[in-house]
Amino acid sequence: MKRKLSNQFLVNFLVIFLLTILATVLAFGLLSFASGLISDSLAKNRYPASAIIKEDYKQIDPSAVVQNGGGVQVVDKEYRVVFSSGLDTIGKDKLTAEEFTKFLTESKSKPYHYDILYQPEGEFWVIVTFPTSLRLDFSLMYNKEASAGDFIRVGYVLGFTILTYLLLIGLFAFIYSRITAAAITVPLRKLRDGTRLLREGDYSARVDLRLKNEFAELQNTFNDMASRIEHEISLRKKSEEDRRRLILDISHDLKNPMASIQGYGELLLKKSGLTENERNEYLEIILNNSKRANGLLTELFELSQLDSPDFSLKTERTDICEYIRQICGFLVPQLEREGFQYEFDIPEESIYVLLDPNRFGRIIQNLADNAVRYNPPGTLVTVSLEKLDHQVVIDFSDHGIGIPAHLADHIFNPFVRADPSRNSKTGGSGLGLSIAKKIAQAHGGDLNLFPGGHKGSTFRIIVPAI
Ligand code: ADP
Repeated sequence: MKRKLSNQFLVNFLVIFLLTILATVLAFGLLSFASGLISDSLAKNRYPASAIIKEDYKQIDPSAVVQNGGGVQVVDKEYRVVFSSGLDTIGKDKLTAEEFTKFLTESKSKPYHYDILYQPEGEFWVIVTFPTSLRLDFSLMYNKEASAGDFIRVGYVLGFTILTYLLLIGLFAFIYSRITAAAITVPLRKLRDGTRLLREGDYSARVDLRLKNEFAELQNTFNDMASRIEHEISLRKKSEEDRRRLILDISHDLKNPMASIQGYGELLLKKSGLTENERNEYLEIILNNSKRANGLLTELFELSQLDSPDFSLKTERTDICEYIRQICGFLVPQLEREGFQYEFDIPEESIYVLLDPNRFGRIIQNLADNAVRYNPPGTLVTVSLEKLDHQVVIDFSDHGIGIPAHLADHIFNPFVRADPSRNSKTGGSGLGLSIAKKIAQAHGGDLNLFPGGHKGSTFRIIVPAI
């Protein structure tokens, strides 16, 4: 790729160089054509020496030349300036033969236009001088009468010069094309290498071009894309790991009750001579384990329902203060039965939110069940509600045992329980908080463990107010 791009540049630059030469030649042609157009109107051409020369230099009328900024001098055969009017660039009355020859030969290189004419009868030269406005001397001359040897030698020099000129152009075009192409190929190569790394699975690949042009934009887009892919991949890995762990947890949690049901079922069938009491005890064990397995499956079903893309809430505009007050009212008998203390702090005003009353009630019920299940009787349970900005904040706290700090970050993950035996008499599935959090999130809010000041736990539910 690199070579192709460089070659493309080389060809482009060669074409540009050659076009520049062509344009220069055309410019010279144009200049000479334009000069031809205005030449008749220039003073030096309107008043040449031939127009004013007379046999007797005394009869020469220099007025038109002088009025147009020029001058007329007459030099006789002894090189004396016998007549002078207007602009005088000779500056002497008498010249030597060398000085006059020098004047004649050098006249072309001065910023004056000289028109010199010799009058054979009067034996004098008339010199008409005008200041040059602007002169560009470029002319090509040749004479076919020159010797063949000279032509060959000059031809060699000319050929060599043109060849060297073209070679230099080629060389410059080559160097310039490489330098220019490098400004493109180097960042391109870095981007290509980065893309290759990505393709090979190195999602940490980033490109640093140290440029501020369009490539920098491409670099930012590339790096942005790479970090998104990296993020997506890590999410996918995590969800893959979560899924694997979930299946492991489900099978582990279902295994014990199912094995117990099977074991006691077989015992009932095969063991003869069971007393009524034994039979009832076995049946109760079977019933409890079926309830446990069924409860677990029901919660699993609810959790996957909440994750399903088809899931939607049946929301209605609800006064959340009134709603929470009612729920707290329902909680009172349970809390009193279990010997818990309680305090509710719900404002009297009406604050409206969009709620699915059935689902949302599940959050509070779950938090209350947990508070009662995991804390000793006598524990204080509080529920408070307030509006902060555009959100309704509900804090559900207990002053009980609290949640171990190392679990705080994971407590909302399915199957996470503080009791490591997983078979505690408390009988929790470890799914309740995950379900509650998903319901809160489905309402556009959230459920989090709030690092409160007191001992115990505070769960904070947030719902957007309308
Ligand atoms: P489950 O209660 O079914 O086990 P949850 O997801 O509701 O599942 O709770 C996860 C774990 O969090 C519980 O097993 C318990 O160890 C801990 N937990 C929840 N609420 C409280 C609480 N109020 N006080 C102490 N521990 C709690």
